Amino acid sequence: MQSIKILDNRTINKIAAGEVVEGPKSVVKELVENAIDAGATAVTVEIKEGGISYIRIMDNGCGIPKEQVKTAFLRHATSKMSEIEDLEHIFTLGFRGEALASIAGVAQVEMMTKTRDEETGTYIEISGGEIKNIQDTSCTEGTTITVKNLFYNVPARRKFLKKPATESGFVSDLINKLALGHPEVSFRFINNDTTMLHTTGNGELKASVFYVYGKEAANSMVPLEYKKGEYALTGLIGKPELSRGNRNYENLFINGRFIKNKVVAAAVEDAYKTRLLIGK
Ligand code: ADP
Ligand code: MG
Repeated sequence: MQSIKILDNRTINKIAAGEVVEGPKSVVKELVENAIDAGATAVTVEIKEGGISYIRIMDNGCGIPKEQVKTAFLRHATSKMSEIEDLEHIFTLGFRGEALASIAGVAQVEMMTKTRDEETGTYIEISGGEIKNIQDTSCTEGTTITVKNLFYNVPARRKFLKKPATESGFVSDLINKLALGHPEVSFRFINNDTTMLHTTGNGELKASVFYVYGKEAANSMVPLEYKKGEYALTGLIGKPELSRGNRNYENLFINGRFIKNKVVAAAVEDAYKTRLLIGK
């Protein structure tokens, strides 16, 4: 064995990045969650070649103030918590301050961002964790981030990416779930120059279901609403025929976060079957 030594910062960053960034889907997830946390009401996601060569996320959220743009890309840089006690009342989707640093560590990233109060926006270019360029730019309020050539500097990871069609399938599935979890946000998803999804963001879950699953699904579902103390359950529910052979219809969100839970899914199905058996 070789002697023990401390890894250099670039290597540490690349390893850490590998834990956050698995592929295009996780990049899109982190960036869209940032957009939602920034209060965006409209988010456009564009990918090419499954997101391997090109991902662009555009939002109309609060933007990042000029003097904080560089900091946002540092590891453990977050505006969402400052001490351990904050963990108890965090309502944002992200808070570890790792996404931007990780993504910029393993891809070629460009960001344009502007807050409402600023006269000019900021443009920053970062590749492999190094700032290549930062300057003023004219842009509208919000943030646009472009991520090119994922894992260009980590060939071992690039090899493990799936074919573009498979990766774009993962991204599309994710956008559908994000759209269903956030009916208050208008999502547009463009894959290889074709718009695949465009939700209104009018806050109606039924409208999101319409755009994601189609008219038939939306029309055959009924609203569900239940509240007890601090807990509230809302959603749409349909007959099991709807999801027969297509589990994609079964979606569960807690505070806007998509979760997979076999127990709850099985309980819903059981309850329905029991109801059929006892004829009610
Ligand atoms: P985290 O989301 O865990 O705080 P990130 O690395 O994802 O960490 O982002 C770092 C910080 O950059 C965020 O806390 C936020 O202040 C800012 N930020 C990132 N993306 C956006 C965005 N789209 N709009 C506004 N601010 C953003
Ligand atoms: Mg984040």
